[in-house]
Amino acid sequence: MQIFHTITSLQNFLKSQRLLGHSVGFVPTMGALHQGHLSLIETSKSQNDLTVCSIFVNPTQFNNPHDLAVYPRTLEADCEMLESVGCDVVFAPSAEEMYPTLPNLKFDFGDLERVMEGQFRPGHFNGVGIVVSKLFNIVQPDAAYFGQKDLQQCAVINRLVKDLSFSLKLNICPTLREKDGLAMSSRNRNLSPEQRLNAPAIYKALQGASGILKSGESSEKAKSFVSKQLSAVDGIELEYFEISNFDTLQPIDEYLEGKTALCIAAFMGKTRLIDNVII
Ligand code: AMP
Repeated sequence: MQIFHTITSLQNFLKSQRLLGHSVGFVPTMGALHQGHLSLIETSKSQNDLTVCSIFVNPTQFNNPHDLAVYPRTLEADCEMLESVGCDVVFAPSAEEMYPTLPNLKFDFGDLERVMEGQFRPGHFNGVGIVVSKLFNIVQPDAAYFGQKDLQQCAVINRLVKDLSFSLKLNICPTLREKDGLAMSSRNRNLSPEQRLNAPAIYKALQGASGILKSGESSEKAKSFVSKQLSAVDGIELEYFEISNFDTLQPIDEYLEGKTALCIAAFMGKTRLIDNVII
């Protein structure tokens, strides 16, 4: 496995690979890797000659300085995990390498970012748009792999790829969960043992709400169920629970079979967790 820290060294290597006719799959991450990330690497490996994983904690997408400061950084362990699944290339640039000057450029994804993550994390999707555009330009992949866990991010990147004519295939991969249902996340490392014990309540609330909607009951009922369930759990503070159209991510009042996304964000202490299911 090759590890690059500079754009030029990565690009020189990738140029030589492209001359050999090798296709490139790309998995952007912020590191502190878990099995969810590795599943994206494995999917990319099964579909491409070469898989590149980037590890970069992108400062421009953090609206909360505390979140950025405590975001776990575990490059050495990440590289070992990537090597163990046969990842070919790691790109781990410094902030100075990625941002010699801070871009003034601003992305506005319209209605897509007026809800949920966009609403509660102002500027977040601007930062995501900037870093993902830069990484796509640097790596020039044939295909890129993202997790459904960050559903709104997938929708934003889908728009970005269309609007800026990036010539790559976008693949959305399923959310990997711990045995107790908690969605795998780098931020889970910041939970105390007690918080970790209570965290699966988030997915349980999503499952409960799914059952309510599927049985024909109202979205109000599902919403009040989720807020009651979570307020009964020590240390969980619900930020939002939305019932949305899976394509547009705009709120809907009625359950549309196969097209409904249930999305949730909750704090456990200072750690913010998100999850979603599509029903
Ligand atoms: P992150 O390092 O959190 O920015 O995530 C990098 C990529 O991994 C994003 O496309 C995420 O959606 C994806 N990802 C994060 N958690 C999971 C998970 N539990 N299952 C599958 N993919 C995930």
